[in-house]
Amino acid sequence: MKLVSFRRGEALQPGALVDGHVADLSAAAASLLDIISSNHEQNWLDQAVRKAPRLPIGSAQLVAPIPLPRRNIFCIGKNYAAHAREFQQSGFDATSSGQDVPTAPVVFTKAPSSVIGPEAAILANLDPTNSVDYEGELGVVIGRGGRGISRTDAMDHVFGYTIINDVTARTLQHKHKQWFLGKSIDSFCPMGPTLVTADEIPDPTRLKLETRVNGELRQNAVVSDLIFDIPTLIETISRGMTLMPGDIIATGTPEGVGIGFTPPKYLNSGDTVAITIDPIGTLTNAVH
Ligand code: MG
Repeated sequence: MKLVSFRRGEALQPGALVDGHVADLSAAAASLLDIISSNHEQNWLDQAVRKAPRLPIGSAQLVAPIPLPRRNIFCIGKNYAAHAREFQQSGFDATSSGQDVPTAPVVFTKAPSSVIGPEAAILANLDPTNSVDYEGELGVVIGRGGRGISRTDAMDHVFGYTIINDVTARTLQHKHKQWFLGKSIDSFCPMGPTLVTADEIPDPTRLKLETRVNGELRQNAVVSDLIFDIPTLIETISRGMTLMPGDIIATGTPEGVGIGFTPPKYLNSGDTVAITIDPIGTLTNAVH
C-alpha cells in the first residue's frame, strides 16, 4: 500500500494512493502515525481503503507522510563507502579521525520541525553560511517498537519506506563539530511523497536511488551498497534505546552530494532537487 498524508483545508489527513485517486482514510484514523502505532492486522488497512471515499489525486495536496514526527529523525552518516570518501576528501567532516569509512554506524538526528512535504520549499535563505547541500536517502519507518531488537528480527519491526532529503548546511555542520544544527534548519528534511508498506518492498536492498538537481543526475546508487544494512542499523539503535512506532531512520546518502564536486555545487534559490526511489515515487522540492 502507498500511504500518504494530505492537506484538506487546515487539516492534515491520512490516505492511500489507489488507481490514480487518493483514498481518504480520515474516517478510519486521525493520521498515518495513528495507523502505524495501532499495530493493526494486515487486512485492517485493506478494508479501510476499500471503504474510503476517493478523491481525484489533483485535489489533494500531499504533505510529508509523517508531517511532525514524535521525536527526532535518526540519521546515519557515511553509510555508503564512495560517499564516505568524498566527504572525507571535501574537508567538511570535523568529526573525521583520518579514517573515511566508519567501523561502526555514525548516528545523529534531525529535529522534527525540519520536516517538509513534497513540493514544499527548502528555505536555503535560513542558512547564513550559504552552503546548502542535498542528500538523497532511503527512510525506514518503524512499526512495532522495541528495545534490544536483533538483526534477525529487525525487518519484522519495519512498517514501511519513504524518501528523505537530509538537507545540510555544510559550513554549520563543520563549524559546530556536532551535525545537529546544520541539519535541523526548518525545511531541511523533505520527506515523501509516499510511505510504502513493507509488504510491497520485500527486499529493500534492491531499491535504486537517483537524485537530480535541475534535471542533472547527481546520485545514482543501489541500497545494497549500504555499509551497515537496515537490520544492523535497527539492532544498533535499539540496543539500549527503545525504538517507537513511527520512528524514522534515514539510512545514509550515496556518492554525488554537492561537496563531492570541486568547487562544491551548493543549492541556490531557484534550484529543484528531485529524489526518486521506485516504488516510493519522486520527492521534488524547489529551493527558495
Ligand atoms: Mg545524510
